Amino acid sequence: MKVLLAGYNLDTDVINELKSQNSQRQDVTPETLSASYARISRDPRPIDELRKVARSEVEKARKSNSAIIFKMGHHSIAEHAIFNFDLIGISRLALEEVEKFRLCSYTEKSQRYQKLEDDFLVPDEIKGEGEGVSCEGDFVELIKKQNKFYHQMIEAGVEPEDARYGTSLATLGQVGLTVNARNLEFMLRRFASSSLAEVWELGQQMYKLIHEIAPSIILFTQANDYDQKTYREIKGARDWGLGTGEIKLDVSLVDYTPEGDAKISAALLHCSSNLSYQESLAKAKSMSDEEKKNFIKTCFQYAEFYDRPPREFEYADLTYELIISAACFAQLKRHRMATLTVQPYDPKLGVMIPPGIKKAGLESEFNEIINITNQIFEKVNNVTLLGAQYLLTNAHRRRVLFKTNVRELYHVSRLREDQHAQWDIQIITSKMCELAKQVMPYTTMFVGGKDVYPALFEKQFGRKPKVLPQY
Ligand SMILES: Cc1cc2nc3c(=O)[nH]c(=O)nc-3n(C[C@H](O)[C@H](O)[C@H](O)COP(=O)(O)OP(=O)(O)OC[C@H]3O[C@@H](n4cnc5c(N)ncnc54)[C@H](O)[C@@H]3O)c2cc1C
Repeated sequence: MKVLLAGYNLDTDVINELKSQNSQRQDVTPETLSASYARISRDPRPIDELRKVARSEVEKARKSNSAIIFKMGHHSIAEHAIFNFDLIGISRLALEEVEKFRLCSYTEKSQRYQKLEDDFLVPDEIKGEGEGVSCEGDFVELIKKQNKFYHQMIEAGVEPEDARYGTSLATLGQVGLTVNARNLEFMLRRFASSSLAEVWELGQQMYKLIHEIAPSIILFTQANDYDQKTYREIKGARDWGLGTGEIKLDVSLVDYTPEGDAKISAALLHCSSNLSYQESLAKAKSMSDEEKKNFIKTCFQYAEFYDRPPREFEYADLTYELIISAACFAQLKRHRMATLTVQPYDPKLGVMIPPGIKKAGLESEFNEIINITNQIFEKVNNVTLLGAQYLLTNAHRRRVLFKTNVRELYHVSRLREDQHAQWDIQIITSKMCELAKQVMPYTTMFVGGKDVYPALFEKQFGRKPKVLPQY
């Protein structure tokens, strides 16, 4: 066996310092890693030799990368090149677009743990660029009012995590983004097609930073009809009518895998025997209730709060329709193993008023700010639908569809039902889990925040797990 550390990502300032010591170097690019790994499938030489060759002939490595990606469609070689971006001064609305990409890593400034300053974006759409009519005066006046009220709430003792419900999606944030070249290409292409000027501009700036470093692995970055027109044309395909506006529940289980418990058990039996899937399913269905319960318990008897259920728990899905605040959505969207699609924020869906604001006796002032926001939204929305989304607040709600398998539901629940979790997403997750327990009672037996896991475990096994969460 021979194991080598072939590379790791470094701070750009360190790379530039190293480059300045030898300005002749051509090989300061992750493309050589992609090129050498691309050759592994057909070239018998050891990988470290392939890397050496790629480093000594960078132009040749670039040509080979482009050919492999472009002609053979072997895009995955670009996944071996990693980039880190500091995205600073980006609005919360645009960060939603950035964080849509699932196979990337993000760490974002928290509006929960930090007090906000008054920085916000006046988007081009609001300035009238593109649409021709400026709404800047109304927009700026409104955001200043919202921000002033934020500070009043903070002074009255409301925690930042609650006071931010009165601030807009134009508020600036920052995020550290780590992305491989394959996903970066996808991101840049989507951003190039974005109808939001801010997102388009972000894509252009990111492209400028990387295209000279890694031109051979980031190829398809141009805007295209597919990304620009598809959703627009689905929307316009016919008159879909208007919704009734009726809001029954904030959490509804709208679809799920029938007999999910049996299907997960069948998958567990399938991998632990030589039975066919149909035979496994028949056996899973024929178990008594006690047997079903004990079979699932076998999966958890050694599991600590940080362990995931086995992969077979991915064979049953649950789809929820949620009506959630922007603050709650900001957290939910970070769960990358789920499927999440959204409608725009809609003032008709009402707002989420944090208990901390009610407790401080500021509910009517909060509602007043929301009313003003809704009035300005109506006005601006007539001019620019895209620009109007920026002025809505963290309290405004949208409809989302959230599909998760049972394995990911465990993870979401451990984090978001936990006592450390923010109250809004805690409530939503608890409701989701309650509904899941009704339709898949056995496989969801150990679903719960990490704080309650020791009790759930003890109830089933009569002993505590080995590791207890620390608070
Ligand atoms: C109390 C609390 C406070 C938080 N505060 C902040 C904050 O201040 N700033 C902030 O930005 N975020 C914050 N978060 C969000 C947090 O960092 C995660 O982004 C979020 O909880 C999603 O969970 P996840 O990353 O574990 O996994 P998911 O995306 O739900 O994925 C499930 C699992 O899949 C695996 N996985 C998924 N993608 C990858 C990948 N690319 N590489 C390796 N493994 C992967 C991991 O095992 C992961 O646990 C907070 C979360 C909580 C619960």
